Amino acid sequence: MPAKPRTARPSRTVLISGASVAGPALALWLHRYGFVPTVVEKAPAVRTGGYKVDLRGGAIEVCDRMGVLDEVRAHSTDMDGGSYVDSAGRTVGELPAEIFGGREAQDDEIMRGDLARILYERTRENVEYVFGDSVASLHDDGAGVDVVFDSGTRRRFDLVVGADGMHSNTRRLVFGDERHYKRHLGAYISIFTGPNRLDLTRWETYHARPNKLISVYSTSGETAGTAKNCFVFAAPTELACAHRDTAAQKRLLADAFAGDDWEIPRLIADAADADDFFFDSIATIHMDRWSRGRVVLLGDAAHCTSPASGQGTGLALTGAYVLAGELAAAGGDHVAGFAAYEEVMRPGVELNRRFAEKFAKEMTLSSRRKIAMRMFMVRTLPKTPFKNLIAKKIRQEIQQAANAVPLKEYAAYEPLGTAA
Ligand SMILES: Cc1cc2nc3c(=O)[nH]c(=O)nc-3n(C[C@H](O)[C@H](O)[C@H](O)COP(=O)(O)OP(=O)(O)OC[C@H]3O[C@@H](n4cnc5c(N)ncnc54)[C@H](O)[C@@H]3O)c2cc1C
Repeated sequence: MPAKPRTARPSRTVLISGASVAGPALALWLHRYGFVPTVVEKAPAVRTGGYKVDLRGGAIEVCDRMGVLDEVRAHSTDMDGGSYVDSAGRTVGELPAEIFGGREAQDDEIMRGDLARILYERTRENVEYVFGDSVASLHDDGAGVDVVFDSGTRRRFDLVVGADGMHSNTRRLVFGDERHYKRHLGAYISIFTGPNRLDLTRWETYHARPNKLISVYSTSGETAGTAKNCFVFAAPTELACAHRDTAAQKRLLADAFAGDDWEIPRLIADAADADDFFFDSIATIHMDRWSRGRVVLLGDAAHCTSPASGQGTGLALTGAYVLAGELAAAGGDHVAGFAAYEEVMRPGVELNRRFAEKFAKEMTLSSRRKIAMRMFMVRTLPKTPFKNLIAKKIRQEIQQAANAVPLKEYAAYEPLGTAA
């Protein structure tokens, strides 16, 4: 009897670098489809901290399909709205949540750290997590990927996924230096927890100054007595500062807001004690391809759309859904799976990136006159008879971006079987 022709062994073992949003979401789906994912995270545990992130349209649908939507809803920020104040702390305009949240009824908002923790908790029993380690080198020989970790451990995987954020280590190792792919959008953002100095409950207070925007908020899940302090400031070119040098970043933040009034000196001083301090350039990542051989990028690592898009987390979730689904649909053939993933994701990513580039220009305003005009709008809009029309128009644009990735029904819950 003639021997049966040998077909390429379908991929099963997948190393995922990064345990924030994209990584654990991908691990959840890969496990359901019969793959064997391992997640490596540089931090010693799932990182807390970060801004409140919007989950809209496709992201909500993916949370539902993952079975985590109820838990996400239980951790909703549940904000009532926000107001702008002037230098004396006087309210100059209010933003009711239902008008300016840009959300449809099913949409929600959650703290990034809560979402990461929910996804980790949901997957930890079925997925191997390795904390406090990182990929030091990888070698793709066409049949698999040999990985050496910082710890010295050596392992071989069928596939490697870089879900390690805007400053992706996987991207650096496989595609080269970040500066080839990163586009600074002209501003920096910092956020950290401090004492609830403004005594806020489910409310956000904004203060705009030329080239700066400060917001302080306390969500429904905020620990008693604390609030989040968020600072955005314009910086036309990138500042000289290493991505992980927190002490230098705190100094840059203090320098950027030195001499400013309102509550700023006290809020900035709180950075000194913050253990969840986040500081980064508002930037996008542009790549012609997201995969090379057996390595593929996901979420911010592949296509960061920046905080200005309000869709980075949503795209990380939908990307994880699509990547796992397309790999499963291709029977574990990574060439076909990666190509299909990119084809499905790219138009939505491009739309969101354009959105981010437009919005990044409006996050801070360059003069007192422009700020006064915005305050006038904030004051008058809620009173105009057209407020619902205007809110609808804003929502339509945002919803288009939030639903830009088509979510096919993949062969759900059908394991690939046991490949040798
Ligand atoms: C602590 C933190 C705070 C954030 N705050 C905000 C915010 O305020 N506003 C906002 O819009 N976006 C913020 N983001 C980014 C936001 O989470 C992402 O835009 C979005 O959720 C996409 O998620 P992601 O999983 O692709 O990437 P990220 O959420 O950036 O996650 C990347 C993960 O990879 C890990 N990692 C990095 N390097 C390595 C390595 N060498 N080996 C292994 N793991 C590695 C990181 O620790 C992190 O857990 C924050 C991210 C983090 C990690």
